[in-house]
Amino acid sequence: MKYISTRGAAPALGFEDVVLTGLASDGGLYVPETLPQFSREEIASWAGLSYRDLALKVISPFVAGAIPEADLKRIIDTSYDSFRHEAIAPLVQTGHNEWVLELFQGPTLAFKDFALQFLGHLLDYILAKRHQKVVVLGATSGDTGSAAIEGCRRCENVDIFILHPHQRVSDVQRRQMTTVLEANVHNIALRGNFDDCQNLVKASFADQSFLPAGRQLVAVNSINWARIMAQIVYYFYAALALGAPHRKVSFSVPTGNFGDIFAGYLAQRMGLPIEQLVIATNSNDILHRCISGNDHSKKPLLHSLSPSMDIMVSSNFERMLFDLYDRDGSQIRQLMDEFKTSGRLTLAPEPLRKAQSLFSSYRLSDEETIAVIRDVFETTEYLLDPHTAIGVQAGRQTRVDSSTPMICLATAHPAKFPEAVRQAGQSQDPALPHHMQDLFGREERCQVLDDDLSQLKTFIQGNIRT
Ligand SMILES: *Cc1c(COP(=O)(O)O)cnc(C)c1O
Repeated sequence: MKYISTRGAAPALGFEDVVLTGLASDGGLYVPETLPQFSREEIASWAGLSYRDLALKVISPFVAGAIPEADLKRIIDTSYDSFRHEAIAPLVQTGHNEWVLELFQGPTLAFKDFALQFLGHLLDYILAKRHQKVVVLGATSGDTGSAAIEGCRRCENVDIFILHPHQRVSDVQRRQMTTVLEANVHNIALRGNFDDCQNLVKASFADQSFLPAGRQLVAVNSINWARIMAQIVYYFYAALALGAPHRKVSFSVPTGNFGDIFAGYLAQRMGLPIEQLVIATNSNDILHRCISGNDHSKKPLLHSLSPSMDIMVSSNFERMLFDLYDRDGSQIRQLMDEFKTSGRLTLAPEPLRKAQSLFSSYRLSDEETIAVIRDVFETTEYLLDPHTAIGVQAGRQTRVDSSTPMICLATAHPAKFPEAVRQAGQSQDPALPHHMQDLFGREERCQVLDDDLSQLKTFIQGNIRT
């Protein structure tokens, strides 16, 4: 399988090089040249497969020619050993034909573990084979950093540096990162905000000459194709559990950077019969405005009770645009240039029509989010985290056919976001799972740095293992 850039002017790459690359050299994102297709009969034959076995079926065609199947099987099998639930992605019923897919059973309690546990093992495999070492560098506003650190802490050939805004992530989120004390793990608290963190990361990727010879930077945010790929699997897993392909299902997805929901769109294109894909946003609603009113314009960032969806622009939407514009890279380049200068992107009539036929969308305020957490708890005694609550309500508000199962992706465990849970009237904070109960007693290690590129580069240079 070859991978091509959404802007059409970068070289095509094989799977392993795509995993080790950030943005394409033309500024685009890599996508598979062709999408694997599964017939109804083939999908039907997967009913009852374990999560790991199903993952092997779904992922194999994407890595064809790069990784032998037996090796891929080993990588997948070990990636999901760290999950606490035997089903890996269990379904819980919250209403009539309404289900929550618990994607928070991994080590850091958010769905990002699905992709980043896998990416860690994948990097280890590729780098050992190539006798290569890399530096993982990323910025986080919370969940990505801890999941990436958990994924890479045992990688022999990876040094990982994660920037977070100093004193602006929650205590649970910070401690999940800073209490990992392996010698290859480096947390940097930057005196600045999340955008400052991201800008330093981008600048470091743009000029990597500060690294020792032979080293390169690897991205762990969702511009990395391997993350999207790993997330396609649980759409198949949940749908099969509820009767697909003999019956259609719908998904409602709490959305920030458009990574998770893009994986759902790919599952549909690959043959999974999905009736509705719902984009659920908080008040940072660029995607909802785009789908509902062709208003894809940048607005100031709002801080919400669902901070992992606090974004101004969704980086993976470019991958969607590429398909909406019939994979014409030069048109995407024009559109993105226009967006960069004007802060606004207007879809042509036909791509807009396609987008509206593929997705429903809905936006929730913080007050509505709290009301949903309260309502679902009162009727089922099931406690939602604020991101998941947005997904549940968006599903309820947009569904067109109540006989089709609506599956809401539960992207985080409520214990990660005690503030929203408290506001919803819970007198006690939700308990952390057993393996994390001593989190607040563990030793922390973290370096505070100024918002300064040369300081960051010096810190990285001084901490890379030889
Ligand atoms: C990252 C994250 C999201 C948003 O996912 P995208 O792939 O960026 O759309 C939603 N909920 C939680 C809890 C997250 O950590």
